[in-house]
Amino acid sequence: MYDVVVVGARISGSSTAMLLARRGHRVLLVDRARFPSRTSSSTNLIHPPGVLRLKRWGVLDKLTGHEIPRITHYGLQSGPVRLQAPLTAVDEVDHALSPPRLALDHALVRSAVEAGAELREGVSVQGVLRADDGTVVGVTGTSKESGPFSEKAAVVIGADGKNSRIAQLVGAAKYRDEPVLSKSYWTYWEGLPQDALVRTYRKNRRHPFTWPTHDGLTIVGVAWPTEDFPSGNSEEAIDEQVIAAFADVDEEFAGKLRSTRRADRWLTGAVPNFLRVPRGPGWALVGDASATRDPITASGITHAVLGAELLAEAVDDGLTGRLPMDRALSAYRRRRDQLIVDHYDYTRDYARIADHSPEERALIEAMSRSPYHARGMIGLFSTVVPPADFYSRAAFRELFDYVDEKGGLPPRIRFLRWLLHGVPGRPAAPAALADRLMAGALGPMGELLLRSPRP
Ligand SMILES: Cc1cc2nc3c(=O)[nH]c(=O)nc-3n(C[C@H](O)[C@H](O)[C@H](O)COP(=O)(O)OP(=O)(O)OC[C@H]3O[C@@H](n4cnc5c(N)ncnc54)[C@H](O)[C@@H]3O)c2cc1C
Repeated sequence: MYDVVVVGARISGSSTAMLLARRGHRVLLVDRARFPSRTSSSTNLIHPPGVLRLKRWGVLDKLTGHEIPRITHYGLQSGPVRLQAPLTAVDEVDHALSPPRLALDHALVRSAVEAGAELREGVSVQGVLRADDGTVVGVTGTSKESGPFSEKAAVVIGADGKNSRIAQLVGAAKYRDEPVLSKSYWTYWEGLPQDALVRTYRKNRRHPFTWPTHDGLTIVGVAWPTEDFPSGNSEEAIDEQVIAAFADVDEEFAGKLRSTRRADRWLTGAVPNFLRVPRGPGWALVGDASATRDPITASGITHAVLGAELLAEAVDDGLTGRLPMDRALSAYRRRRDQLIVDHYDYTRDYARIADHSPEERALIEAMSRSPYHARGMIGLFSTVVPPADFYSRAAFRELFDYVDEKGGLPPRIRFLRWLLHGVPGRPAAPAALADRLMAGALGPMGELLLRSPRP
């Protein structure tokens, strides 16, 4: 009998198992894979909140033998408008990292084992055990070495990825779900300057992206809305398409791509978007099993480690009797929702790769001249600033201090500025109208603006 069985031993599973084992609980960690091993195609950017956890847990110290440069700035270029800002520090961590996934997964699994979790590799979970009242009390499956097995536990945790078998077995419903929104080609490139910057671009329904990763390599890729994705092309044809997409937005960087070389084959990856009910009697889900989102905001790993922390705290509350397990897992669901739901909606909006409207561009332009707003926008992408803080009435009203006449303003932005600044005495009614019009220009994220407190 274990306190916890964790199914899936990569980012979310090993993190959860490690944290629970460190608190003295009896943890069984199983995976059908063996470690070290590659996961399915994934880039590896980790935003500051994720880096902070991995650092505190001592996992970064295990990534020896690799040169992993700090990434301190993110940038977005939309057409001619360029915004770039430093990352806001989370506690002492003011940078992102992009370590090799193979090494990161292996460091996490070793950390779980060192903490006292029992690891079984080559083990596929196929069923759950239930008590008479339906509560999940264990798992059944097959080990490649020893054949069928069953193990009992107070809590079964599904950290088994987007196609979670545990979620299917317990009937965890999906909601707010959408099919694949974007698809990308990406690869590792060598010879590019390692300039501590994540570059993203938006033009002509394409989203080129690049950042330094590890051992002198740079990730280079382009995402398209699913319906535009140029599938079935040769490696050389993809080279041309990717370089052409960069040339459209940043000729200087495209020139660097032409004079250096691709170090790997082109990879492609895409996932659907869904949240799952992450808890029930005797079970919980974490990581991609609990929430899968488009990779365009590179937030899956960061949210997997933060979600693991929340789940480990909740399960510890239940196992130690500080709270009944059912209430502890309900608290986990609430905290998970606070952590990810708004960012999940932001990611889905971003993943449509719609060209920015002239109004949106004027606002991004204004943000690029306001250090507070520029940091906020970069903080939003990098999961440091909660979307509800960024999309606030106060922040958007202040942004109009930075709206610039040069190059001509779209009529709607001019009108909004008049409502906010031009009406004598700045009465409240025009400002409230400006809030509503602004919200209308921000698509789904406008709802957050209207929910925010009135300044
Ligand atoms: C193209 C692409 C690019 C991405 N880029 C980034 C990025 O730059 N930054 C970022 O933060 N995120 C990125 N992500 C998302 C990120 O990869 C995931 O969010 C993250 O890997 C989820 O980790 P996990 O531990 O929850 O699940 P997984 O990594 O999917 O691990 C699940 C584990 O469960 C095991 N398992 C499954 N079923 C069973 C079973 N029945 N029995 C036993 N074991 C089982 C599997 O073998 C696997 O080891 C990207 C995703 C894609 C698709």
